[in-house]
Amino acid sequence: MADILLNVEDMKIYYPVAGKKFGTTDYVKAVDGVSFQVERGEVFGIVGESGCGKSTLGRGICKLEQPTAGKVVLDGEDISTYNNNQMRPVRKKVQMVFQDPYASLNPRMSIFDIIAEPLIIHGLTGSKAQLEEKVLDLLRKVGLDDYHANRYPHEFSGGQRQRIGIARALAVQPRLIIADEPVSALDVSIQAQVLNLMNQLKKEFNLTYIFVAHDLSVVEHISDRVGVMYLGNFVEVGSKESLYKNPTHPYTQALLSAVPVPDPTAKKDRVILEGNIPSPLNPPTGCKFHTRCPKCMEICKKEVPVKTQLTDDHYVYCHLMSQKG
Ligand code: SF4
Repeated sequence: MADILLNVEDMKIYYPVAGKKFGTTDYVKAVDGVSFQVERGEVFGIVGESGCGKSTLGRGICKLEQPTAGKVVLDGEDISTYNNNQMRPVRKKVQMVFQDPYASLNPRMSIFDIIAEPLIIHGLTGSKAQLEEKVLDLLRKVGLDDYHANRYPHEFSGGQRQRIGIARALAVQPRLIIADEPVSALDVSIQAQVLNLMNQLKKEFNLTYIFVAHDLSVVEHISDRVGVMYLGNFVEVGSKESLYKNPTHPYTQALLSAVPVPDPTAKKDRVILEGNIPSPLNPPTGCKFHTRCPKCMEICKKEVPVKTQLTDDHYVYCHLMSQKG
């Protein structure tokens, strides 16, 4: 039986805004009823354009955003209704690595203090000498040197700062790390180094990752399974092998057709998506992708597509598939 570390059921994250009519409230539906599971030791990649809700979903899982509805069970513990106080011990199990490593590191704190802080908060310090050894050990694990401990964030490159962010996340020995666009601010050559480091640490610390990114090749590099998000919902979820080899949803096909291939002679039909992602304040009816879908049919404008299981580890939400069956 699968060893499930995280179970998310029907998560919704809505933001109230003033409605068009005076005195009414409308809702920005950033995450609109998302369900998925992540197995222990797995890397689950979440991809989609900016504004699709992928980062909000990641933040909702570790309660940096309070979900409006839905269930989150982490390591057998239902944390759906936990407040900040109740979440404190849970934060030892789930940590985040952020996109902008500079903004997420306090510029006035030394690297030693930044990495020691979560250890102190969670009472994992031991003696002064033990704390020092733990911090230096974490620095070494992420490829930095002991002397870096006394320096400050501005003295480091983007890649090094992301290594510091990863060391800080690792300090409390989490089970799950939610990495939100962790390499998108870095040069391509540095991206590969940070991804390789994350892969290596995953094995060493038995970690599970949720890896959020807009870049499909980055997600392919690190993920076991991938979920494609559009306007607050998954449209297709599958194992990396199945989804990249047999993308079935027109949105996944369009995203993948835009990924550059290393062989310049290889032919690839690029699917150009018309228009921008619609507003989550007023999403299209039926299939939310119908306003941009090159294969849109009449039914797509009216009815929300249901889940179609393509294989054991691959499913899609599209009328093209449900009509086939
Ligand atoms: Fe396109 Fe219709 Fe499938 Fe939506 S349900 S992706 S509009 S074909």
